[in-house]
Amino acid sequence: MVSRSELFRECQAALEAAGNPDARFDTMCIFQDCLGDRNPLFSPLEAVPSSAEAQIRAMTERRRNGEPLQYILGEWEFYGYPFRVGAGVLIPRPDTETLVDNVIQLCRGNGMTSPKIADLCAGSGCIAVTLKKELPLAEVYAVELSQEALPYLRQNIALNEAAVTVIEGDVLAETTAARLTGLDIVVSNPPYLTAEEMNDLQAEVQREPAMALDGGGDGLGFYRRLTPLWKRALNVGGFICYEFGMGQHEQVGNILAENGFENIKFTRDLGGIVRTVTAQKTEENNG
Ligand code: GLN
Repeated sequence: MVSRSELFRECQAALEAAGNPDARFDTMCIFQDCLGDRNPLFSPLEAVPSSAEAQIRAMTERRRNGEPLQYILGEWEFYGYPFRVGAGVLIPRPDTETLVDNVIQLCRGNGMTSPKIADLCAGSGCIAVTLKKELPLAEVYAVELSQEALPYLRQNIALNEAAVTVIEGDVLAETTAARLTGLDIVVSNPPYLTAEEMNDLQAEVQREPAMALDGGGDGLGFYRRLTPLWKRALNVGGFICYEFGMGQHEQVGNILAENGFENIKFTRDLGGIVRTVTAQKTEENNG
């Protein structure tokens, strides 16, 4: 029989030896999950049941091999809500909470009490589900193409009891855009990494779906194609809200301006990086 503290030290040391800078945090998350105890080291001398020990060792081994912690735990929090995650779906990032805040503020600030919202490239559903939870009168659609991501999206809608409508389809296809009209908000965190960034991914990010990350070439392809296509589905007065990568704000802003959008505003994420933009469609025939 091994005690909690002995096993903890052993797992933390194994992760440290593998070069993990967050070894203590990761070990803590694994212990909390396997022991169902928020504070597993409160009783350090307690014996770890052999089934939990086996589970802890197996998870530590997966983490040692570079699998993202979030995939191993199978669930991660975003905006205070739980989201199921695993291979095939992008892990919700705290940066994206800035995008959600933008949409909530736009709706509240513009008196949109029951906005019609489409989340393009919805993935796990973290944006769409959170918006439905925070704006209960909103009509929220989540558009996703990936057959690997769709089951997570549906699970997360059910898990959070959020009445979000899933639209299975390619956000770049006219036929998909034609399915949604009269939108007040189009929100998207599309794939935006450049070809260079795709070649230099951190080990954990390499385990995430390239389809959710790869923006092709300069990383801006989705903004160029989504903006004119989905502008048509927006109401006059409606907004488009994008997340993008570090250093892309000027170019994304230009794409919006070239497409006739006005009131283009950027927001920094919690790390101080210019991370999101909101822009308004002000007239019917302006580009
Ligand atoms: N923020 C993600 C990353 O850098 C990229 C997400 C995306 O391409 N939309 O890992």
